Amino acid sequence: MGWDLPSKDSNQGFEMPHNSEVSLAQNPIAPEAAARHIRRLMDAERRQAALQYGAHVRCNPAPLGIIGAGVMGTSIAAAAVRRGVPAIVVDNDEQAVASAPQRIAVRLDAPPAGADVNVEKVQRLVQTSRELAAAASCPFVVETVVEELAVKQQLLAQLEPLLSAGTIVASNTSTIPLVKLSAPLRDPGRLCGCHFFLPVGQAAMVEIIRGEKTRPETIAGAVDLANAIDHVPLVVADAPGFVVNRLLVPYLAEALQLLTEGVTVQAVEAAAEAFGMLMGPLRLLDEIGLDTALECAWTMSGSSADLVVRSPLLVTMVKARQLGRKTQAGFFLYDGHDPLPQQLNPALAKALARWPQEPRTHTADTILLRLLMPMIQEATRMLQRGSVRDAGQIDLAVLLGFGFPASRGGLLYWADQWGAARIVQLLGTLDYLGPRAHAAPRLVEMAQKGRRFYEG
Ligand code: NAD
Repeated sequence: MGWDLPSKDSNQGFEMPHNSEVSLAQNPIAPEAAARHIRRLMDAERRQAALQYGAHVRCNPAPLGIIGAGVMGTSIAAAAVRRGVPAIVVDNDEQAVASAPQRIAVRLDAPPAGADVNVEKVQRLVQTSRELAAAASCPFVVETVVEELAVKQQLLAQLEPLLSAGTIVASNTSTIPLVKLSAPLRDPGRLCGCHFFLPVGQAAMVEIIRGEKTRPETIAGAVDLANAIDHVPLVVADAPGFVVNRLLVPYLAEALQLLTEGVTVQAVEAAAEAFGMLMGPLRLLDEIGLDTALECAWTMSGSSADLVVRSPLLVTMVKARQLGRKTQAGFFLYDGHDPLPQQLNPALAKALARWPQEPRTHTADTILLRLLMPMIQEATRMLQRGSVRDAGQIDLAVLLGFGFPASRGGLLYWADQWGAARIVQLLGTLDYLGPRAHAAPRLVEMAQKGRRFYEG
């Protein structure tokens, strides 16, 4: 694949100077080069999916069955409605069923003729029900119930006898490995992961997870669904957190860690936003839901000791039912449907009072370093393990999965601007964090050999 790489002598200054005065927020990447790079990544991923799965049985995913009418169920339904794909949305909670059409309409883009047009469109394309059988009648069913293994397994066990032989089932799980989810199924080959994301402002993507037992036809169907609703299909292997959350959760965990070290919410958010993140990590946590984030962190921290720092702060907030935007209170307070936070949540100060404030002084740069380095470390380990095809999959995951700034071209495209030697040196300044700041072996090797993530 021909990567759009800035050369060492181009005016994009490929290697950043080894000068500690240079801020991490500085961006030497030309906007057109970053945009071209991202377009190529998206084309490459679509081409790869077509090449690998195009020959398998095609699936018309309409109407799309969606089980769970929460944050994600309504968001996926909105994505379907946007592309004219009918959907049947099922939830076991009466209130969730009753309010689903309105919540789906809110998630659609603002129509020129007013909100009523959205409601009418939803009424035309979306049916709602409390009966599992309604979703089971669809050729493609996505479950989006809460992130708890037992709940999801029980649901899948109830669902399977209601399905026809060819029905594809996808789980929108954020982190639970398919190998665990598929345990109660008689036909685990029909199950794949379809991990959707909240809209992140750029092109939409779905991370398609190929379990050990998933049939190629199942993946082909998921690629068809992605194409039908204009989402980039990122097909990846089964692992806790897959690709996107394996990168996102350590970043969010680091933001929580910084709060317990006495860094303010404003300072964390400002550093991330100045770097170009669509929103700061704490507001993103509010959007995701603190309970969902806790379940994800829990699943992933069990899989690797140095991946996620466990956060008692998150536990405290969840116990206090400060779950983020869905309860109108998380790190920030919210008002009705307004997505913008109104103010800091005073309950946070109370929760933080338990932690002794550390005397370490942070600057915007040291905060950025803390937020970004865990992602680079894990991305390097994933490349080393072969759990992604190449650096391009990592970059698409962060760009389209959680709003990494497009102007940077992606995490590893950006890291290549600094060079592995500089990254290793920067990690050395985080020595006070212990083993999790020790540079990944592949990174050290890259530094020694002067290699990049994108090699020509
Ligand atoms: P949520 O709590 O907003 O919604 C879950 C819905 O499922 C609720 O309406 C609940 O009533 C319903 N439900 C629970 N058990 C059910 C059952 N047995 N049958 C039918 N309905 C049932 O949760 P969410 O944030 O939408 O997350 C759902 C899934 O999507 C989780 O697996 C989560 O990890 C994943 N996910 C979430 C995000 C995010 O940003 N929130 C992003 C990607 C993936």
